[in-house]
Amino acid sequence: MANIGYIQVVRHCNHFCGFCSNPTTPYTHDLASMRLLVDDLVERGYYGVVMTGGEPTLHAELPEIIAYASERGLHVRMITNGWRLADRSFAAELGRAGLRLVHVSIYSVRPEIEAQLRGVEGTLEKAFAALDNAAAAGVEVNINSVINRLNSDHLDANVRYFTEHHPQVRHFVWNNLDPSMGRAEVNQERFVPRLAEFELSLHRALRHLHRSGRTFRVERVPLCYMTEFAWASTETRKIIKGEERVVHFLDDKQTVRQTAWGHVYAEGCEVCSLRPVCGGLFDQGGAYDPGELHPVFVDHEAIVAAVLGDPGDPSFHGVSLAQWREEFAGRRSPEPVPRARETMKEGLIPVGRITERGRRLLAAKRRAEAVKAERLGVAVERGAENPASDT
Ligand code: SF4
Repeated sequence: MANIGYIQVVRHCNHFCGFCSNPTTPYTHDLASMRLLVDDLVERGYYGVVMTGGEPTLHAELPEIIAYASERGLHVRMITNGWRLADRSFAAELGRAGLRLVHVSIYSVRPEIEAQLRGVEGTLEKAFAALDNAAAAGVEVNINSVINRLNSDHLDANVRYFTEHHPQVRHFVWNNLDPSMGRAEVNQERFVPRLAEFELSLHRALRHLHRSGRTFRVERVPLCYMTEFAWASTETRKIIKGEERVVHFLDDKQTVRQTAWGHVYAEGCEVCSLRPVCGGLFDQGGAYDPGELHPVFVDHEAIVAAVLGDPGDPSFHGVSLAQWREEFAGRRSPEPVPRARETMKEGLIPVGRITERGRRLLAAKRRAEAVKAERLGVAVERGAENPASDT
């Protein structure tokens, strides 16, 4: 099983997205504490690790922890806004350290939309430079994009731009907005899209990528909104393959292990042929409407066969549909739990520490972010409403 773990190496960021679900905390990591988390993923037999944040490139010891994870045999990846990778020498340094894959986060190729979403001017040029610099450093480059109300009508225009101007990017990842935490939770009205708002542009984007030989994944989108490309759903693939995910959060949640991929289902889901392999509607944060779901009637085993036979994903090669059916039947509980996310705190390894430096950083970030929030007209996350109290 090709399980991938996540390590939040920092929680601060040099951008200010109004829907950030992981804003600054007083927790910090040093190399020793990050090594423990890498060791944990190795002991679990994980295939790879994603360095994430906050903005992971802001950690001074990022090259060292990448090198350590690489030496320990993990496939090392990173999710970044690309700002620091616009520096070619830094991109090369990470490549030499062992970074294999970078997901550069870009929401929109329209500069005015990207600036509104990022809360900072000039990010797009840096992210484009990051795509080229990472590729030049021998690091595979993907694009990650959060689907939100401001880009929901031009997801297809975005991918057309990338395939024309950055043809080295061969894989794209969309995450429908997670409205359950951080600033995303308190700015739902402004940023959370209705499913119908992006259905058409997402479909056009996926079709364009498929026809041009690119690959893609889509998370938190129910299959009735992407039926033709259901095999690309992150939840569906994990349900089919029985995968898990560990996230080492740099906050009070600490380590969370996710083993269930079903969210909530509407009444109509009970007659839907895709129900066995569908993640349903993301319910954390209560922003999405089950009334938008509608049953479909297509062969779900055709989707299973597409995932099992995916040449780009060797984890299930050689497994026949009949073998999968038997294994899957044994794996499913008789009473499926209709919860969005089955998480468990393991609490075995301390994840970072609250330090004096972390407290000072948090206070400074909150003061600066209060100014940005006012300028952009977005709310700050719960607990950050009064930055003066952090000093
Ligand atoms: S109706 Fe329900 S089970 Fe069917 S595709 Fe939509 S969310 Fe999934």
